[in-house]
Amino acid sequence: MDGQEHFRHHSSSPSDHHAHPHEVHPSRRDFLRVLMGGALAGASILELAYHRAAWARAALDSGSKLFDIEKAAEGIYFAQARPQAMINCNAAIFVGAKDVVVVDAHSKPSAATSLIGQIKREISEKPVRYVINTHFHWDHTQGNHAYRVAEQKLDFIASSATRQLMSDLAVARLKASLEQVPKRVEELRARAAKSASAEEKAFCAGQIRQLEAYQADLKDYTLELPTITFEKSYVLQDSAHDLHIEFHGHAHTAGDVVVFCPQKRVVATGDMIHGFLPFIADGYPRVWPGTVQSVGQLEFTQILPGHASLQNGHTVMSNMGNYIEELTAKVEEGKKAGLTVVNLQKRITVASLKSLQSNGYGEYIQRNNYRFTPNFGKLPPLQTGVNTNIGEIYSNLDRV
Ligand SMILES: [Zn+2]
Repeated sequence: MDGQEHFRHHSSSPSDHHAHPHEVHPSRRDFLRVLMGGALAGASILELAYHRAAWARAALDSGSKLFDIEKAAEGIYFAQARPQAMINCNAAIFVGAKDVVVVDAHSKPSAATSLIGQIKREISEKPVRYVINTHFHWDHTQGNHAYRVAEQKLDFIASSATRQLMSDLAVARLKASLEQVPKRVEELRARAAKSASAEEKAFCAGQIRQLEAYQADLKDYTLELPTITFEKSYVLQDSAHDLHIEFHGHAHTAGDVVVFCPQKRVVATGDMIHGFLPFIADGYPRVWPGTVQSVGQLEFTQILPGHASLQNGHTVMSNMGNYIEELTAKVEEGKKAGLTVVNLQKRITVASLKSLQSNGYGEYIQRNNYRFTPNFGKLPPLQTGVNTNIGEIYSNLDRV
């Protein structure tokens, strides 16, 4: 995801499962011991100071963990991001014989630092050797530097297209995300001032604290570009399991990759396949459904998506592909007939979209919005997200 598509991501379904067999609450001293032991041996004094400050902010801010970790298969874990004012992506964690591979790195270094701590406490003390960036968006890459600080030997893997996009756009996108902050803080202050509810005031204060922590966290941003790139496919072999990092075509961006583990039948999909409405501003609406179909040919039983919950089977994936396909066809037809975006937003309603009605897909998305975005009971209706998608598709129709 990217931008402000908070309420266009994903929710709960019968397939969700939330067992947390590894949930433990170690003391702060244990946390520091694990983090400051081996993991930080190669860091400079400044980096350590930075790391401690980031840790303190992360710990203070959340009051608890930022991620819920669940086991997907032997040696494979899914770290589901809890709602934050500035969204974090999920991570997929693959534990090999000697080291760990993590897919995606959130919106801020302190979130990555927090997850590194959780991985070492709850999953494995083995070093993280590779971080894979599924695509260039800020909420999947801005935490990269925390891994560089925490680990002695580390590579970042992405498609060549993603490396190019990061190098061209990462700084501008960071700036755009920071520019949202003052306006959102103002809105929250106004909302708190008007509210008679102590809970709502506390919610607003919490959101403001998170926004300000984001600002502080990203003040000295270090761009970490991918160090290993490829065009179509890159394989990490390990005696525990192999990881096939594959580009299947344009979709959510020009560079999306999936991480497929054939032995365990698991695939991590970034934002190409997840449980919110798609974010299409950087996307390729005409070819995205075909790319999803191509990924669907892989032999997996579980999807670890970039946002919202783990998906069992192919249903949500197909729903998402069908939605993009149906909406794109309607927008294309309307654009050809000379209709404007506003005309189309009035004409293409949630009720008129078969893809949102089938398999309860529209309701699934709204449930996810309630569950995975900070909302305090106030969310725009699904139509708002569909309208945004109509505008994005209208602009990007000719991209192939
Ligand atoms: Zn994205």
